[in-house]
Amino acid sequence: MSRAVAGPEIERLIQLLARLPGLGPRSARRAALHLIKKRETLMAPLAASLGEALGKIVVCRVCGNVDTRDPCTVCTDPHRDPHVLVVVADVADLWALERASAINARYHVLGGVLSPLDGIGPDDLNLGSLLARVRDGHVGEVILALGATVDGQTTAHYITDLLRETAVKVSRLAQGVPVGGELDHLDEGTLSAAIRARTAL
Ligand code: ZN
Repeated sequence: MSRAVAGPEIERLIQLLARLPGLGPRSARRAALHLIKKRETLMAPLAASLGEALGKIVVCRVCGNVDTRDPCTVCTDPHRDPHVLVVVADVADLWALERASAINARYHVLGGVLSPLDGIGPDDLNLGSLLARVRDGHVGEVILALGATVDGQTTAHYITDLLRETAVKVSRLAQGVPVGGELDHLDEGTLSAAIRARTAL
């Protein structure tokens, strides 16, 4: 056990920061010290912003996204194509696609993927609301933007079966060579998937 170098308030701040993704105990100390040095310009606004957001965060009842309004900013954006629905496992995936400006559509956040090993079944995911949205008739295409993992692909198959009774077009993300990727650096699975998913020029 290392000796405390600061009072309990600062030690607590470091412990909490260390729980953030991507921050270990060392980076947490560095972050805490940075906040302390910039307490007027960074720590105070950050504390205020955390308090403000905390009281307002809600889960969108339409798509499962998190926001400070319900329905969320994405669902109420009139400039998005209402006919295309992108299904993602997690809010982080929605944010990643938005960061890439990949598509101007609406989303449906499942809240995870099917995982028999972890005991996550269909009832644990937002599948009922997905089916209801598609049955509504305004959606023409559902894009399954799920990970290329066993659980991700199991979930994609499950949803494809689930939506079969509707007339909706279902597609999934391409798998293959990453942009800027060298062929001899790719694993065999990615290479075979890229060959299978080849496109005509
Ligand atoms: Zn929403």
